[in-house]
Amino acid sequence: MSKSIVSVVKYEKPLESVRKVVELTKLFDDLPKEVKIFIKPNIVYWSSGPHPKWGVITTSRVMEDVVTLLKEKGIDDITIGEGFGSNEAAQDAFKKLGYNDLKERFGVKLINTGDRPHEKIDMGCEFLVNFASDALKADYIISLPVLKTHSQAVVSLGMKNLKGFINIASRKKFHSADPIKTLHFNVAKLPNNIPPVLTLIDGIYTLERGPSMDGKAHRTNLLIASKDILSADIVGAKALGIEPSDVPHLVQAAKDRDRSTSLSDIEIVGEKIEAVASHHDWEFIYNEAGDLPLPFYRRQFKGLKYKRYDTTMCTYCSAINGLLLVLLKNAWNGETFGGIEFLTGKIMEPSSGMNKTILVGQCQYNKNKDHPNIKELVPIRGCPPSMEDIKDAFEICGIKVNPLMFQGGGTDMGGVIFLQKYKGKSEFEESFYKLK
Ligand code: SF4
Repeated sequence: MSKSIVSVVKYEKPLESVRKVVELTKLFDDLPKEVKIFIKPNIVYWSSGPHPKWGVITTSRVMEDVVTLLKEKGIDDITIGEGFGSNEAAQDAFKKLGYNDLKERFGVKLINTGDRPHEKIDMGCEFLVNFASDALKADYIISLPVLKTHSQAVVSLGMKNLKGFINIASRKKFHSADPIKTLHFNVAKLPNNIPPVLTLIDGIYTLERGPSMDGKAHRTNLLIASKDILSADIVGAKALGIEPSDVPHLVQAAKDRDRSTSLSDIEIVGEKIEAVASHHDWEFIYNEAGDLPLPFYRRQFKGLKYKRYDTTMCTYCSAINGLLLVLLKNAWNGETFGGIEFLTGKIMEPSSGMNKTILVGQCQYNKNKDHPNIKELVPIRGCPPSMEDIKDAFEICGIKVNPLMFQGGGTDMGGVIFLQKYKGKSEFEESFYKLK
């Protein structure tokens, strides 16, 4: 079997660096002028307020350079799309990330796949997956993930980026409670039965404990590309200092292809991977009992259990989970929380001996509402969980929260808080997320 080529290039200059990583792996060489292209950035999170984008969202720099290279080849039918939660968010993102400018200059189409038709396809999961029709109609998908870790999937690279193409109902099924057909199993199936995917991983900024703004970004200046998605992801994991054999969805994808997760059938061109790799932590660390985040444990939070998240918690509950942790961190005043426990996802069970048990999300509510270990049930119902129920839950538990924290569904203030850690660090440039 011939080896797949993966190019690894240091980001140095606009256009030139992307051109280099593309040319080294001949990424666009097979594309005729008439080809229909769908470009998928990673915009995992968007809010109209300020929030850190470094390592979270694909840079507009790389997006513009990719579109420019395609136009140089005479390709006109280019669509950029992502699955946003609302059209309002999509329009705001397209405007602020400079994509509207690409539309004006190059005639690219911009779409929110979240608001467009999906088709049921067999990807090899236990269920048919609702995948964005616009992407399925393309001749090629160009996937532009960020070089980042993921607190559930370990890494979020080429394969994981394709999850943005599936609709909410399928996303929920992906975070399955089945012990074998897990999130990892399902993510490994994402490249199946869709148009060929060309992957260019944007590592200008990388992220520890991703995928979102509560992670820690680094300026890494790296670009990785391949026509083979698994090879791109194996090298991407290596660049993050993570062994691909420790990434369950890469192990599954390699098994499905009768390959290994080693570099033995990959030829790396450009930089040597050992020279550019740097260790990135991927998980949020908890205490030994697994019932309190380590920072809370170290600060000796009392009367609180907050069990370690698992892979059954899907995107909406993950965002709420992040918000709840920020609220608790800010509410802690050195006094006991009074014996309360938070439970998330689809499989956690209540501990005995707690005074109040907060069930986060409809899955938790349905599973445990009648559980005998619960003394007083405090529900945060809904899917996605309701903001009103969150406010009520904190009130019932006597936890005082600054009302500003709930603005914009809790994300506005979160964005401002998470921006603080980058203050005064000149390597974190907002200009990578703007054009002109
Ligand atoms: S309640 Fe949460 S975990 Fe359950 S399906 Fe909805 S988002 Fe997923």
